[in-house]
Amino acid sequence: NTSIYQEFSAELSDIEIITDIDRVTKLSLDYYHFSPILQSQLNDKKANLVVRPTTEADVIRVAKAGVNYKIPLTVRGAGTGNYGQCIPLEAGIILDLSKMNQIKWLKPGIACVEPGVKMAAFDKQAREIGWELRMAPSTYRTATIGGFIGGGSVGMGSMNYGQIKDRGNLHRVRLVTMEEQPQILELTGDDVQQVIHGYGTTGIITELEIPLAPAYPWQEIIVVFDDFMTAAQFGQALSDSAGIVKKLVSIHSAPIPSYFTALQPYLTQGKHCALLMVSEYDVAPLKDLVTEYGGTFTYSKTAAEAAKGTSLLEFTWNHTTLHARNIDPSFTYLQTFYFTLERVEKMYQHFGDEIAIHLEFLKAGGKAVPGGLQLFRFTTEERLQEIIEYHEANGAFIANPHVYTIEDGGDKQIDKDKVAFKQKIDPYGLLNPGKMRGFTL
Ligand code: FAD
Repeated sequence: NTSIYQEFSAELSDIEIITDIDRVTKLSLDYYHFSPILQSQLNDKKANLVVRPTTEADVIRVAKAGVNYKIPLTVRGAGTGNYGQCIPLEAGIILDLSKMNQIKWLKPGIACVEPGVKMAAFDKQAREIGWELRMAPSTYRTATIGGFIGGGSVGMGSMNYGQIKDRGNLHRVRLVTMEEQPQILELTGDDVQQVIHGYGTTGIITELEIPLAPAYPWQEIIVVFDDFMTAAQFGQALSDSAGIVKKLVSIHSAPIPSYFTALQPYLTQGKHCALLMVSEYDVAPLKDLVTEYGGTFTYSKTAAEAAKGTSLLEFTWNHTTLHARNIDPSFTYLQTFYFTLERVEKMYQHFGDEIAIHLEFLKAGGKAVPGGLQLFRFTTEERLQEIIEYHEANGAFIANPHVYTIEDGGDKQIDKDKVAFKQKIDPYGLLNPGKMRGFTL
């Protein structure tokens, strides 16, 4: 085995290769530890080495050598995934694409980028021409665009544009295959679905063409409510207010606000809060809506003021879980499509203090619906399963963050098209082995 890696490294000696054990260990992991189950399953997984190319030509050479030596290859962007997406189950090499970070071109409404471009860095440039990413996770500052396509799903902006997998949110990808003679494929139209949330099992993305959204100066706002369901109804009403331009509607039941250490001056013990991003031009109509629902404005920063400190984004989506875990590491979470407020209320009443509900509104099937990343202290796997089953029995959809295969986390069924595509482009099953349950050699 050692000699294979020596030969592989010698062949690619002009590309950056990391062999230092501490760095390789670090670059083999992501944020899988948000799940106590994944933590015990994945914490000893480690690659043999990390390769960090800067060009597509070098990616092709790495793929070719990988196939030649039959070495597993796991692609990595920034390594901020939550389900061990970029953790190599069968060792091998980590292909770190963070240095392929060029914006190839940028036009009003659309851009072409390399996969390692960081999302916030991209927006900084795009905003100069009045545009920005349609959606981004709360790891916006560190995550790469390729990693978001390969392992993410939703985020700020999903309020307007839905999930990445919704038709139109990715226009084109360029892929390197894992064959003896690696090919370059260009996928457009519905074919881009092969790589969306594919965990790098269906090819190595080397270029993406992504549609953009008009950039507004986003005002960051906190509103406090006495009653959780009123806060949730306010969230729905704001999401449904066609005239108010927004990109983040995040609602937190008590005691979650108490976990936001840096925001304590703006929050009230025992109360519930909304963290919002709306266009600076729409603050007045928003205030009227807040009054209608009996909320209290406690924090309001213009985009320029917000840019000087930590954005409220970094308290929402799965950053909420991060803050809770900083207070008590036994906290874990679920990802839930509630679809309706009636269902939210039913779960709120049923689980009481056991589960703290955190809602994120997003567009699904043309409507604004409440999704949730609810928090609770992990006790046993059996209890976790019961909680999931209760939600599902009541019509909620759970995207389970406690499993590492694509199928078990998402659609819960084998995607025959994706499996057939993988069989063609990765005939030896070397791309992130073990993550696509439907694929067998
Ligand atoms: P990585 O973790 O490096 O990779 C993700 C997956 O994509 C891996 O399977 C990898 O193999 C594959 N991949 C990476 N690059 C390529 C490529 N070039 N070609 C093919 N496959 C590739 N996710 C959300 O969707 N929404 C959120 O709001 C959100 N919030 C988060 C908050 C916290 C605190 C944390 C820790 C995570 C959160 N995540 C969220 C998960 C994650 O941060 C995002 O999905 C992020 O976009 C992943 O980007 P990355 O560059 O870190 O990807």
